[in-house]
Amino acid sequence: MNAPLRQAVIDLDAYRANIDLVREWMDPVEVMAVVKADSYGHGLEPVALAAVDAGIGWLGVLTVGNALRLRSIGVGDEVRLFAWQHDPDLDFRDAVDSGVDLGVSGLDELERIAAAVDQRIARVHLGVDTGLHRDGVALDAWPALARRARELVDAGLVEVVAAYTHLAETSDDEDAAAVDRYRGALQVADELGLPIPIRHAAASLPALTRPEFRFDMVRMGSNLLGMPGAPGVSASDLGLTPVMTLRGSVAKVKRVAAGTGVSYDYTFRADRETTLALIPIGYADAVPRSAQGRIAIAIDGQRYPIVGRVAMDQFLVDVGDDDVRVGDTATLFGTGEDGELTVLEWGQALDVIPEEITCRIGGRVPRVYEGHAVDGRVSAYLRGEPQ
Ligand SMILES: *Cc1c(COP(=O)(O)O)cnc(C)c1O
Repeated sequence: MNAPLRQAVIDLDAYRANIDLVREWMDPVEVMAVVKADSYGHGLEPVALAAVDAGIGWLGVLTVGNALRLRSIGVGDEVRLFAWQHDPDLDFRDAVDSGVDLGVSGLDELERIAAAVDQRIARVHLGVDTGLHRDGVALDAWPALARRARELVDAGLVEVVAAYTHLAETSDDEDAAAVDRYRGALQVADELGLPIPIRHAAASLPALTRPEFRFDMVRMGSNLLGMPGAPGVSASDLGLTPVMTLRGSVAKVKRVAAGTGVSYDYTFRADRETTLALIPIGYADAVPRSAQGRIAIAIDGQRYPIVGRVAMDQFLVDVGDDDVRVGDTATLFGTGEDGELTVLEWGQALDVIPEEITCRIGGRVPRVYEGHAVDGRVSAYLRGEPQ
């Protein structure tokens, strides 16, 4: 049978195994599974449900919209959903009523959250900007935020669940200085009589490499998806498995003469008589034009280089005299077990981080879920059954 034209296979068993392993490493520190950006292109709902089934109690969702979406498919209150990037006009009522944990990046946001309190107390994580200049308040604004939070706690409107920061993941010294600033902010909160039950600062890389940055909880996306960001370290070095395999099928095969120009602009010419195989995946799907000359894909365990320009919907590989046929499976990246590159190796070859590749996989590439989905809640979700 011919392989599908294009598909991203998401191995939820691998995801679960990565979760188990990472939780073991981090123990007793809590692991939040970050599922923002459609779980880095792997799909919000199935990945979030798989994480919950694996025993994850915290999901990092980025937006309130994602949080409400997960609540609507049955992710209950026992699972904490942390959203920290808010539309400036967002009405927080639904978020508060749905028990969503809200990151706070300023006094104004805190006031708007408190004003939205109706049935339930708002759960907030106060953000400290320790030098990334993204979320949270600058250190000079921190005492005022903590003081106001204290008042709102006393008024019964707000529960301060946590104080958090996010690191620049730069030099060891710079990150240590940022964590010192974070500790300073915690100290200020303490002096103001504001208890901070949970402290969280580290994403995948610092959590892996700097145990002293783990505090009470780490927020992890890429490690759990098998795309660790530690320089020079592969997923398998760590025992992690890449969760996504990107596949296509050979759509056409053509024999061409020596000297034949290939694809737009004829940037490649065959130096001998050869066979070209067309893979129907282009830059609209995931493969940047810069992949030409840098990436090889695997067909039946053999690697073949991308030749000529990558087009919107397809690219060509030079398969020489090999017996490659229409319908054969072409693996662009995966675990590496069948001769293909991993997405980490794609990142290195293309000078990007692997998340950039998986996040950009276009909507017309179906995500196909394997493994744990077969009998978990995920499969019920995928079949469209109520949760
Ligand atoms: C994306 C993100 C994370 C997860 O980052 P990884 O490096 O993929 O683990 C954690 N915290 C925040 C604030 C983020 O934006």
